[in-house]
Amino acid sequence: MSMYVSTRDTAEQAYPYSHAAVEGLDRDTGGLFVPRLTPVFSEATLQSFVDQPTVTIFTETKSLFAGDSIPTDVIHRIAEESYSKANFPYAENGIITPLDELQPGIYKLRLSDGPTGSFKDQALLPLGGELDFFMAKIRRMMAMLGGTSGDTGSSGESSIKGRERLWLAMLSPKNGMAPFQSAQMGALSGGNILNISVEGAFDDCQRIVKALKRTDEFGGFGAVNSINWARIASQVPYWISGYLQACEGEVGKPVDFVVPSGNFGNALAGYIARSMGVPIRRIIIATNENSVLDELIQTGNYRRRDSQITSSPSMDIGEASNYERLAFDVLERDPTRLKAYMGKFATGGEVRFEDFGLPNNYLQKFMNFDSGVSTHQDRLATILEIFKASGNKTVIDPHTADAVTVAMRKQQHGVPIVCLETALPVKFDATIKEALGFVPKRTDPRFIGLEERVDAEQTFRRAENSPEAVADILREELALAGLSSYVARG
Ligand SMILES: *Cc1c(COP(=O)(O)O)cnc(C)c1O
Repeated sequence: MSMYVSTRDTAEQAYPYSHAAVEGLDRDTGGLFVPRLTPVFSEATLQSFVDQPTVTIFTETKSLFAGDSIPTDVIHRIAEESYSKANFPYAENGIITPLDELQPGIYKLRLSDGPTGSFKDQALLPLGGELDFFMAKIRRMMAMLGGTSGDTGSSGESSIKGRERLWLAMLSPKNGMAPFQSAQMGALSGGNILNISVEGAFDDCQRIVKALKRTDEFGGFGAVNSINWARIASQVPYWISGYLQACEGEVGKPVDFVVPSGNFGNALAGYIARSMGVPIRRIIIATNENSVLDELIQTGNYRRRDSQITSSPSMDIGEASNYERLAFDVLERDPTRLKAYMGKFATGGEVRFEDFGLPNNYLQKFMNFDSGVSTHQDRLATILEIFKASGNKTVIDPHTADAVTVAMRKQQHGVPIVCLETALPVKFDATIKEALGFVPKRTDPRFIGLEERVDAEQTFRRAENSPEAVADILREELALAGLSSYVARG
């Protein structure tokens, strides 16, 4: 039975998967949910997954994590619905995340062919189906509230859109959204989706979401952010698929991975896949100028900074919320030590492994993580280099370019190195133009003329930069939607 504990719960109470998925964060302790025991695949099982379609690998993996919370046939239905041909038109033999070779030995795992052009679709598409299933079981509605600087917004909304038992309000900053991303979200406004544009920056949106979640009135709202275990669990299957494609059927062969990282959700899913027995060798973290995770891996010091705006904006973080789950394992799954460690970080802004009697190179030496930093100049140069090397065909987005930059530095002879593609370049016209000197013509009908088709301004509600202003809009819209009773604890 797959059960979950919170990283900060000294009583170590165990909960089912449904609780972790509906709650997001452990409200009683502020900790994150992790499996009490990580399930393991035998080598024979992994071998049997070679060449299997995504839906099969997803269903097999996810049923181990969901335990009794969701019947296997429902997981299978959710997978078929999420990873359909309509959502992933470029799937090859049922594999929605094909592997492309960029340069000899350097590969790109295509994670971003979904409806919003983001790897976040991989996990957010099934999340809508799962939450809808849980709410149908207890005959309740679930209202959700989130903040986005772009990718989570459109991806989360496309998953929740039209689902009878779910309602989602998404805050986005008035300043700082790319026109493409506003248009994507604008196209989804209406029905059970409410877009609110806040007079401020992304940090303001996050601050407002946090403030509202602390109130009785909005405390029960669900979350779509990446600390939700349901999202992490849904990212594990593509790591398995990526490994199986890169090892070319020889399960056991070492394969290295490079992950463009922000909140450490994607990388954590890789760590979980490895803990399940997938022979992933190094997990290499690529950061942009916001190099919190690089410093952690290289020096053992987890140090918060003010984030700076870069040309790979989805990785602009000052701390990495999902790292707490890895730290829990490093500290031998002792909630008391974990609380002391995170407490030191929260109050002093930094914490070192040596403060806890561990070597500062712990993540490299004992967990086979590595890291590298890619800057604006690096990503521009890499985008151009890959374009030229492909005979003027392949364009990668700025985040994926950070991974490829680091992969070129870290590649070792004879070991395939897989870069995770986290977005499509179509979302980042300005940077692509800076790198290549022009913006390639859009070929995907889903994205051609998107900004002209949707007048995003019209579909967003405007809010002053304060929790009260957003609360007023939420009350008004919830009443309009007829949502007098919403949300249940899982
Ligand atoms: C969300 C996102 C990331 C960061 O992923 P994490 O799981 O938070 O590490 C990287 N690149 C893109 C394009 C993203 O949207």
